[in-house]
Amino acid sequence: MANKSGYVGSIDQGTTSSRFFVFDHAGKVVASHQVPIQQYHPHAGQVALPWHEHDPKEILSSVETCMNEVAAKLETMNISPSELQAIGVTNQRETTICWDATTSEAFYNAIVWSDARTKTIVHQLADAHPSKSRDCIKDKCGLPLTTYFSGLKLRWMLNELPSVQEAAKNGTLRCCTVDSWLIYHLTGGIKGNGRFVTDITNASRTMLMDIRARTWCSDLCEFFGVPMSSLPEIRSSSEVYGKIAAGPFAGVPLAGCLGDQQAAVVGQKCFNQGEAKSTYGTGCFMLFNTGEEPVLSKHGLLTTVAYQLGANATPSYALEGSISVSGAAVAWLQKNLGIIDDVKDIDEVAGAVPDNGGVYFVPSFNGLFAPYWRDDARGCIVGLTHYANKHHIARATLEATCFQSRAILDAMNLDSGVKLQKLRVDGGLTRSHLCMQIQADMLNIPVGKRVMAAND
Ligand code: ADP
Repeated sequence: MANKSGYVGSIDQGTTSSRFFVFDHAGKVVASHQVPIQQYHPHAGQVALPWHEHDPKEILSSVETCMNEVAAKLETMNISPSELQAIGVTNQRETTICWDATTSEAFYNAIVWSDARTKTIVHQLADAHPSKSRDCIKDKCGLPLTTYFSGLKLRWMLNELPSVQEAAKNGTLRCCTVDSWLIYHLTGGIKGNGRFVTDITNASRTMLMDIRARTWCSDLCEFFGVPMSSLPEIRSSSEVYGKIAAGPFAGVPLAGCLGDQQAAVVGQKCFNQGEAKSTYGTGCFMLFNTGEEPVLSKHGLLTTVAYQLGANATPSYALEGSISVSGAAVAWLQKNLGIIDDVKDIDEVAGAVPDNGGVYFVPSFNGLFAPYWRDDARGCIVGLTHYANKHHIARATLEATCFQSRAILDAMNLDSGVKLQKLRVDGGLTRSHLCMQIQADMLNIPVGKRVMAAND
């Protein structure tokens, strides 16, 4: 993508923050900026309603702020933003936005991937199917019916929002994930012929894409009641989608797009069948490269596209195990229990005791994802005694992610028939050395971290 003297930019729009990085040809970070994202939890306090939303305008403006700040930092280094060869996008996946083609305004907040409001719809759709199974469309899209994926969130908006129903009738509805929302606006939006595209990895998380044909599937769209005309064009993960329309990077090609977990597969160079990585962020996501053919899981994992690096390139697939709450449980200890002052104190507090003292924490705040898929599960801490203290709870919090990762790895070994030899890891929670050590001990394989940035 870049020539020897060139720089490339990367937009990382995550669940808790937006970031923009500029890398030099050697892969070194030249400049970066990060902006936190406001989290909205309507109906907070009602256990049956773990809703989670973001403001689509803020998603866009936070990215633009990061890009402007980085441009200013580049100028101080005598680097012109126009020297960038290309910019890529990676994003929180499944988070869903419905917007109006006539105004380019969103009809409603973005419904975040972890939002579990669609629980009733999940059960209604499964019950209405002759198989009565939540795996009823898994053969087509590679995914079980759960609250997690975009198709369910779109169904909710179509059921509940008259403005969305009206736009669906008029043909002015646009439905997309965060990558598509950003690319459309960054390439000019409504005033500048913005490109309404998504990449194949993000499309593979909607439940609307045929996992083998890699096109929108009319049967799946009908199943969820989503008009096919409302969906973006599916493109590969590496090609020029358009040029940045405005701001300091105007004219730089937008030339790459991957869902965040698939981007980590590429970043960790898991390009061979049998290689796997796990990203410990808000949630935790382990992806195992299965090569050029999709493998359907018999043990509760997801089938997903890992990447397609070029319009004519052969795509690679992955089996994925997703954990909904991982680093978010550490943040919960800080914000909700106050037993740590900062997430970076977790090792000191959890490391003050040699074991969990019999305390176990299941942080299933919005249900349990892979391999259990229990949307009725809620968090619990068990094994408390007179002896238990905050150190045990802190340790149990780190162990919670590690136990769930072990369950996923066991499922992967069974599905693939090959025992994983080494796990590559990244994400905010990998800053906890104690957590990674517990993980390595529990999996009994090396857990290897690539150092990507100064604060990692
Ligand atoms: P995302 O892309 O999902 O926003 P990140 O990879 O940025 O996630 O990781 C954010 C998570 O990492 C937070 O939930 C936070 O609790 C956790 N985290 C960040 N720094 C540390 C640290 N030093 N020790 C333990 N956990 C951390």
